[in-house]
Amino acid sequence: MDIKAPIKSIEWEVTSRCNYKCEYCFQVWKETKDCSSELVDKVLELTASLDGRWLVKLIGGEPFLFRHFFRVCETLIKQGHQVSLTSNFSCGQSVLEKLFDCTGANLEGVSASLHLSQTKDLQGFIDKCLWFEHNKHPDTGFVVTSVLKEDNFEQLKWVENELCGKGVRFQYQRIKIDGKYQSYPAEIEEYVKGKLSSNEDKTFQYSSFGTKCYTGLYFFRILLNGSVVRCYNGQPLFKLGSLSDGSFKPFTKMMPCTSKKCTCPTPANRNMVMWDKKYSPIVTAARVLPEYLKRKIAEKLR
Ligand code: SF4
Ligand code: SF4
Repeated sequence: MDIKAPIKSIEWEVTSRCNYKCEYCFQVWKETKDCSSELVDKVLELTASLDGRWLVKLIGGEPFLFRHFFRVCETLIKQGHQVSLTSNFSCGQSVLEKLFDCTGANLEGVSASLHLSQTKDLQGFIDKCLWFEHNKHPDTGFVVTSVLKEDNFEQLKWVENELCGKGVRFQYQRIKIDGKYQSYPAEIEEYVKGKLSSNEDKTFQYSSFGTKCYTGLYFFRILLNGSVVRCYNGQPLFKLGSLSDGSFKPFTKMMPCTSKKCTCPTPANRNMVMWDKKYSPIVTAARVLPEYLKRKIAEKLR
């Protein structure tokens, strides 16, 4: 089997501000704010200390609304890292030109999310995507994604044809309700087979407990308040501490997954999840428990 090396990555939630209010957004209930300047400094201290080149993905909210966005990109690149981002692509072309200037070949990828209920000028969005595809650095990956609902299926098929016909990648995203992926009627399932975001099909009904997974070691998420977590699914070794109070401690070795479900394809897309390598429940417990207890004791002593 083809096993790819993990791509060392951080996902950094830089803002919860957004100019859209999508009906399926899990961020809308959150207080809207940017990552504080103090936390920005702490994250950049951390990235300066990391070995080798990491991929830092900036997410929101809408990351272009984050007031330190360009300073952060410039610093990360100076430190030798790459950046990527997910955006609703409502920004003007001049912002995207500034992004090209600031990142050059170190912009690893951009994912433009199309939100049909919020995008007033659909043709303008499509034209911007075509412009981006033809002006980006050749090494920058670009994909347009959109959340599929039964009632927008026909319109998204049209968008798919407009974009793919002109060389832009398009992927459907399975809708989640209360954190759970939903199924569609058979004819829609049949149509979107192979057209969903990478690894979404694999994570859809995958039972992940005991799976060998490198999150916490080579992948982690930094949240707006400075907390650092292993991935997206709560489990005994989910929280890795906080950058705000200096308690962040990544793993020093691989820890198997102890979540029943793996609900986000991002870690898998970074080659963190070894799908076919699972430990038995006893071996999983034997690997996880000592680390869990060590962290609990350290927490009590702080
Ligand atoms: S664009 Fe993204 S962050 Fe903003 S409301 Fe929509 S789903 Fe939420
Ligand atoms: S839920 Fe997925 S990403 Fe998280 S530890 Fe388990 S397998 Fe890894």
